Amino acid sequence: RAKEGGKARYELFDKEMHSRAVARLKMENDLRRAIERAEFCLHYQPIVELETGKLVGFEALARWHHPERGLVSPAEFIPIAEETGMIVPIGMLILEEACRQMSVWQQQSPANKQLAISVNISSKNWIQSDFVARVESILARTGFPPHCLKLEVTESLVLENADAATTVFEQLRALGVCLSIDDFGTGYSSLSYLHRFPFDALKIDRSFISNMGCSDENIEIVRTITRLAQNLGMEVIAEGIETMEQVKILRALSCHYGQGYFFSKPLAACAAEELIRAVNSGERDFFALNSPP
Ligand code: C2E
Ligand code: MG
Ligand code: MG
Ligand code: MG
Repeated sequence: RAKEGGKARYELFDKEMHSRAVARLKMENDLRRAIERAEFCLHYQPIVELETGKLVGFEALARWHHPERGLVSPAEFIPIAEETGMIVPIGMLILEEACRQMSVWQQQSPANKQLAISVNISSKNWIQSDFVARVESILARTGFPPHCLKLEVTESLVLENADAATTVFEQLRALGVCLSIDDFGTGYSSLSYLHRFPFDALKIDRSFISNMGCSDENIEIVRTITRLAQNLGMEVIAEGIETMEQVKILRALSCHYGQGYFFSKPLAACAAEELIRAVNSGERDFFALNSPP
């Protein structure tokens, strides 16, 4: 009996592995097709000055409109795109679209001239030999001002490719592009390399922000990260702000910028464009209670 059960379990496991492998292969094929058929789009999440509620820019977040499955989250397809190398063309498509769109918005009103766009860059893109040249030609093609482009990278990128990363850093800096460290605190959390790499901005991971209400210790962590980063000349952005209470704590800690559902979820391009218009006309105030969503 036990033996039979074992065999059944083994077969079940085998079948599961098989169907997972098939699903994975299908996903890879679909992803390849998605590049040709341009099934990706970007959603835009506002980044806000915490003291004033001023809109300072957006983070571009990739979305995949799968023909059968609907909207697929980047958490699902970006890792597969990275493993297969497809992130290289996908990443470049995303960067170009983000610069093109923000360039259009900047030109719609003098009030939009300083709006920045943050784009997530995976390490595979970073170590492409022609990455910097591609960034440069995207900026030229879209006419987008380099100082309004912020490239977000994670801690692991810096640690895994320290030497190559340094060279690319310097070249991007020379172009005038800004660099941010994303999800800070979730990786190896070594504060020491912050001295070595000239980041312009540091984004504190959502997990620290959502835990601030739980204990003073969590608030101290956010305070320490904020202070250190600012002492090194970096802007600090809190990720995943969901409540006014969190805004108040962050203001008290002198953290100047934030993004999160409290202000807005990531928006499709047309909704983001409408938001910019409403902000400029004063119809939308990020801190007004009766402001429409
Ligand atoms: P990320 O760069 O840390 O982006 C922030 C994520 O947090 C986004 O998830 C956003 O929707 C979510 N978020 C923002 N505010 C809140 C909040 O108040 N509460 C909660 N619960 N979540 C919030 P999303 O869009 O699903 O993206 C997930 C991750 O996928 C991103 O994390 C980024 O690492 C990656 N990703 C997204 N787009 C791209 C891309 O174009 N290229 C690359 N390489 N990675 C991307
Ligand atoms: Mg990011
Ligand atoms: Mg992040
Ligand atoms: Mg995060």
